[in-house]
Amino acid sequence: MTFTTRFAPSPTGPLHLGHAYSALLAHDMARDNGGRFLLRIDDLDQSRSRPHWEQQIYDDLAWLGLTWDGPVRRQSDHFADYARVLDTLRAMGLTFECQCTRRDLETAAAAPQEGVPAFGPDGRIYPGTCRPLALADSAATCTRLNMAAACPRALPAQFTETGPRHAGTHRLSADDMTATVGDVILSRRAMAASYHLSVVADDAASAVTHVIRGEDLFDATRIHVLLQSLLGLPTPRYHHHRLIRDEAGKRLAKRDDARAIATYRADGASPQDIRRLVGL
Ligand code: GLU
Repeated sequence: MTFTTRFAPSPTGPLHLGHAYSALLAHDMARDNGGRFLLRIDDLDQSRSRPHWEQQIYDDLAWLGLTWDGPVRRQSDHFADYARVLDTLRAMGLTFECQCTRRDLETAAAAPQEGVPAFGPDGRIYPGTCRPLALADSAATCTRLNMAAACPRALPAQFTETGPRHAGTHRLSADDMTATVGDVILSRRAMAASYHLSVVADDAASAVTHVIRGEDLFDATRIHVLLQSLLGLPTPRYHHHRLIRDEAGKRLAKRDDARAIATYRADGASPQDIRRLVGL
């Protein structure tokens, strides 16, 4: 399999130094290994994605001196693929429809159980309200994975991490997945798929062998590896890199215009300056 990395930004704001680091790292790793570097536009959230941000991604990456292989993959071109993946999981009997609102989850969480974690990589851990209800599709606001049912079908599963913080082999455990991840959302009515389902489908479709991304996504990787195992897809190697932070130690956000690549460009910085700023 050809060594293949990808950079997958969402076109919902300007790329900042953290994105530049991620893109440069994934690009350099691919080139150093004679492999492919792919660009994917994660425009799953159509309510926040904008064409001008997408254009700016192309401009910023080209200015940084990055070239990518093959056509750009856009998530919005693959909603039907995600629906098929969801149908597969449904047919396996591993999903349930859910009608809980955010408010319902807050209310359920108002009486916390001691020693039970409230939040997982996907936000609030689902209390399981709709799991036994067998709701009709039409009544639901989202489809969730039944984690307790999924684990025996998916495990054993493991992944190899090469990033600085968590390097090593990580084995998924059913207890951990049910207690600290729970019944994650696979698809919302307002959106074609969840982030988890879409990246698993996309990485497999593009034959990505090495996922390079920020360590803020490390906790989500267990969900991706579990889905890969359920769907019979290969598990790539993972490298979660350190986050680029501002002077106060806060990680950069999309709204951090001061550290937008476009701002550095406008101020006369060179691509070499950017590499230096992110420590490459
Ligand atoms: N699109 C995601 C983001 O912008 C990254 C996808 C991934 O690396 O899994 O944070």
